[in-house]
Amino acid sequence: MAASTGVRCALRRAVVPSLVVILGATGTGKSKLAIEIGKRLQGEIISADSMQVYQGLDIITNKVSAEELAQCSHHMLSFVDPLISNYTVVDFRNKALALISFIGNFSNIDDMHSRDKLPIIVGGTNYYIESLLWKVLVDTGQENEESGDGGDGTSNRKLELEKLGGAELHKRLAEVDPKMAAMLHPNDKRKIARSLQIHEETGVPHSRWLEEQRGQDGGGGLGGPLRYPDPCIFWLQADMEALDKRLDARVDEMLSAGLIEELKDFHDRYNQQKVQDSSQAYQHGIFQSIGFKEFHDYLTAPESSTQQEKEALRNRGIEAVKIATKRYARKQNKWVRNRFLKRPGDNVPPVYSLDVTDVSRWEETVLNPALQILKRLSKGEEPSIQPIRVQGAEQRNKRSHHTCDICDKVIIGDLEWTAHLKSKKHHFHVRKKRKTDVDCKQAQSATAAPAPSGETLSKDSCATVAPSCSEDNTLRQHTRKCR
Ligand SMILES: [Zn+2]
Repeated sequence: MAASTGVRCALRRAVVPSLVVILGATGTGKSKLAIEIGKRLQGEIISADSMQVYQGLDIITNKVSAEELAQCSHHMLSFVDPLISNYTVVDFRNKALALISFIGNFSNIDDMHSRDKLPIIVGGTNYYIESLLWKVLVDTGQENEESGDGGDGTSNRKLELEKLGGAELHKRLAEVDPKMAAMLHPNDKRKIARSLQIHEETGVPHSRWLEEQRGQDGGGGLGGPLRYPDPCIFWLQADMEALDKRLDARVDEMLSAGLIEELKDFHDRYNQQKVQDSSQAYQHGIFQSIGFKEFHDYLTAPESSTQQEKEALRNRGIEAVKIATKRYARKQNKWVRNRFLKRPGDNVPPVYSLDVTDVSRWEETVLNPALQILKRLSKGEEPSIQPIRVQGAEQRNKRSHHTCDICDKVIIGDLEWTAHLKSKKHHFHVRKKRKTDVDCKQAQSATAAPAPSGETLSKDSCATVAPSCSEDNTLRQHTRKCR
């Protein structure tokens, strides 16, 4: 047993980097890069996309083609029945980790690291990717409000829920997450709606996320330690204007490829009954997929509708898909910035940006740099291409505790503290205190023995205000005045 683990470890060390992760908005060509890397470097691809795990809707969920599948081994595609609504990120994580490497309970004799294969994760769905990178499922803090991937309008969903009223929300939460419900007051609509939303998006109760997070060593508010050492992360970026055009064109291509037929067929097979039973809310499983719910009105149009009416509904669906796709692309980029570029810490791997704007120069701007980076990393050398520097990490808000003695106020958070020091209120108190101090000193010097020089007195009086406000402009003026 121990010996076989030893052999596994030795083999596992041979795969450097331990894995490749390809991030990027929809339409940036992640699959293409994954396949090209896979073909050259003995890689196998793991799709981290919460919609692609389901069978069906191949066009709208943008699955790789049969031709692409033949070029490189792909995993985690089309294996969940579309009527299953409780497939969760935990299920995904357990299956995918077993494919990558022997970890704890998730043993798999044929895992990629044992076979000297380079795992290439392509995504997709942000919390699916996070579940493979870090030893926590996901950070469900408020900053991650937009963690949902099902499509657009995540925060709208929360607002929609809030309208139901506290009692109803609380009842619903008690059904899916009794632990969380027990901790929340029925009047606290916002928090209850948030917990319900997390459950809807991820299939995992909010309380379970929190437990999981707390249970991890080093897994504070910013996520746990990395599962695999030194993963290589690529972020495919395009000029947004160019990407928008590409996304619109892609929807048109989907239409030519038979999108409407696919939607109709899927609707007849899996959705019609739900709609008839009024049990379809498009928040579970594959039904959340961008591009399906947008055609609801078209797919459920009454038989009696005229051709013209149907045509109008169809066109409206197409427009809605285009809008939702572009919005989703922005959300995906925002997630990369928030989770990888604005987070300081050892558990955040470097991110290499690749420019996919000009598709005619793809080899030059995307493939070759990616291969070059991987080559250097595999030799244990630093790539000549620099990763993106963590942006604004120093400005990141920490939940630090500050006390302003001048205003007699406790302030939590670095950003709030900076804002306070610049606030009118604070300046007002600074001026007031300075005036009091000066008056006080003058009164003292008037009664005490004459000071050797006026300068000493002035310095002292300034020093009483200086420590808490050394950057304060009014204070500097005041200091000059004293001299
Ligand atoms: Zn203050």
